[in-house]
Amino acid sequence: MIDRDRLARLHQRELATFAERNPKSASAYENATHLFGKVPMTWMNKKAGGFPLYLATARGNRVTDLDGHEYLDFALGDTGAMAGHSPAAVVDAIGRRVYEQGGLTTMLPTEDAEWVGAELTRRFGVDRWSFALTATDANRWAIRLVRALTDRPKILFHSYCYHGSVDESLIVVGPDGEGMSRPGNVGAPVDVTETSRVAEFNDLDGLERQLKHGDVAAVLIEPALTNIGIVLPDPGYHDGVRELTRRYGALLIIDETHTFSVGPGGATQAWGLDPDVVVIGKAIGGGIPSGAYGLSTELADRALGRTDLDLVDMGGVGGTLAGSPLSVAAMRATLEQVLTDAAFEQMIAAATLYTEGIQRIFDERDLPWSINQLGARAEYRFVKPYPRNGTESNAAADGDLEDFLHLYLANRGILLTPFHNMALMSPETSAEDVQAHLDVFEQATAELLGP
Ligand code: PMP
Repeated sequence: MIDRDRLARLHQRELATFAERNPKSASAYENATHLFGKVPMTWMNKKAGGFPLYLATARGNRVTDLDGHEYLDFALGDTGAMAGHSPAAVVDAIGRRVYEQGGLTTMLPTEDAEWVGAELTRRFGVDRWSFALTATDANRWAIRLVRALTDRPKILFHSYCYHGSVDESLIVVGPDGEGMSRPGNVGAPVDVTETSRVAEFNDLDGLERQLKHGDVAAVLIEPALTNIGIVLPDPGYHDGVRELTRRYGALLIIDETHTFSVGPGGATQAWGLDPDVVVIGKAIGGGIPSGAYGLSTELADRALGRTDLDLVDMGGVGGTLAGSPLSVAAMRATLEQVLTDAAFEQMIAAATLYTEGIQRIFDERDLPWSINQLGARAEYRFVKPYPRNGTESNAAADGDLEDFLHLYLANRGILLTPFHNMALMSPETSAEDVQAHLDVFEQATAELLGP
């Protein structure tokens, strides 16, 4: 279907354009000699153009780079900036904390935290919240708590899930159907099968086989996989997961960090899920490091009633800056004024427009590709129909095509997350912005397919 020689030629042309367009970014990268891998964080070396674009400014859904180009940003910090870049309400709230009140981190609570806890309960159902600065840490602490509460050692994940740099989660289903370390796993503390189990998404039989061992403290999942394309649940899948976890005495942790795009209360609210623990991070802070996990009242009371668990000092749950005045002020402003019910309606409408537009391009050109929408985000995959689990979706990855499209779009003012063919809508993403993205995508496919 895709002429690989043509793809390689076009890719070379786009690489040359990228280098020509971005001399200042190229030079900044060239001169970065004191950074591990030349970048502030090694994942920034995931770059289609040979060097990363350097940021100059960002407002709403617009980003400008060091060379002065403006981009329509559909990456939005891979969800960290789903509220848009520096939304006014968040800037005001943290500005008050910075300039008027002071106290960026103090070890003293502020009343904003209770407001945020109440709002998270209204949205996600579970009752007792605690804060972190990243979703990774929120997951880590939730994992420690469920282990302690169930007195079971293992956490069960979906194959090709992503929940941050959580040791336990770096597991995939191997060729024999059992768990094995995810390829590339850096410095695992122990063999991951000692701490974890794994099942394919949408595979209730596989899940039951693993739960039957009786050693699973909790199943920790995203309601839809969002880090290996967007893999949606089959009808009834989540009812089955909940039923099986209850039958085998495992708790259910739902990580809404990305699926928050489904609506104001994530997939948990929109799809009527019933988790014991909810984890969320990234977008809720409007760009300021924030994360949270919420427990059912019953679990929270059980944990607090356990005199053998050190929840106050050095028992392994907590971080000095977690729940800081700055972080909770940002969460409050984001939830109260930016990622509101009304904002989600608009964001989801933009994503629907985008999804329909991409589908139309696939249909018109008879491309064997597919797209899934998850509320305010959508992502295409170079295969049709869309994969139903992580292993299939991983097998459908096409690095060359992905790099070419990222580069082609970037060279024409459209920014995507380096790791995804994903487009995320902020409250400020307009129908015109979506159309601009569709126009460039259509142009890319036309060039790719040739006359
Ligand atoms: N959970 C999910 C579902 C995620 O997608 C991610 C990051 N992409 C994380 C947790 C970890 O977030 P962070 O890197 O902010 O810790």
